[in-house]
Amino acid sequence: MLYQFDFCPYRRPFVRPLTTSHGNWEVREGIILRLTDETGRIGWGEIAPIPWFGSETLEQALDFCQQLPPQITTTDIFSIPATLPACQFGFESAWEGRKVVGGRWQVAGEFGLKRKLPLPDFCKKSSYLLPTGENALQAWQTPWQEGYRTFKWKIGTATVETELKLFNQLLQQLPPSVKLRLDANGGLSESAAHQWLRATDEVGMVEFVEQPLPPKQFDSMLKMAHQYTTLIALDESVATLSQLETAYYRGWRDIFVIKAAIAGSPKRLRELCQAYQLDTVFSSALTTTIGTQASLQLAAELSNPQRAVGFGVNHWFTGDEETWLEQLWNNH
Ligand code: MG
Repeated sequence: MLYQFDFCPYRRPFVRPLTTSHGNWEVREGIILRLTDETGRIGWGEIAPIPWFGSETLEQALDFCQQLPPQITTTDIFSIPATLPACQFGFESAWEGRKVVGGRWQVAGEFGLKRKLPLPDFCKKSSYLLPTGENALQAWQTPWQEGYRTFKWKIGTATVETELKLFNQLLQQLPPSVKLRLDANGGLSESAAHQWLRATDEVGMVEFVEQPLPPKQFDSMLKMAHQYTTLIALDESVATLSQLETAYYRGWRDIFVIKAAIAGSPKRLRELCQAYQLDTVFSSALTTTIGTQASLQLAAELSNPQRAVGFGVNHWFTGDEETWLEQLWNNH
């Protein structure tokens, strides 16, 4: 089977910069791609790299797309090297998602945006990313009223003392049934991580602490996972599937955060999750609806159903996505 291949890079600014211990992130950049097979079925895919998280860069992904011929084969799609994990995801998910598209359909219809996700139910099972720092104190009420019950807050962006003070204020405000995830993005020192884990062991509300230390301190995190009752989730440490497999072999049995959009081949991801029965939390890579739908499909199949998925991020972008995508594609 031959597939007509077309692609288009995009830039999409966040409503406000996303602050993590890696710094400020202001514009989401990626590539939308389309595969059309010989029977006319169309599949959309998204390549959305996060290089500081361990994927290829946008430039590497663009180079890869540019060197491909306008018609590609199934073999081309399934032999993308593991050094291009966001490309593996984009191409394979476009390939999997091919469907018949009526001639009268507009591009937005083709994207699948006309068929809305069952959002209300889905929201309740998704974790809501709070703004960093003290802005979190004012920001949980509205999503709580909308049905969110799991919240995520970034830590490691100020001193432990400042953040623990805010953490205690936040705990006093939050309804007791809330689950709180603390994401350090690898930004804590060992002593700060111990301070946090001692604090979280004392309260019942923290579902897990995510990536307290940088990936190279795997052994320290493994020790902490045994030492504290609070669960630890690896995220940056397991950005790609080969890293995930390595962490498993080195003894990690707490939680694995999976950003499917940058992890690599969906086919390989299914094999790993099923073979090792991993405790997983699927999480957004801040993609457009195209990447999100493909990631959610995998989450529905593979995610631990006891845990909220990390896709409560629509509030990071503004405007009508359908119109934006349609204009982007039609003008490229
Ligand atoms: Mg994280």
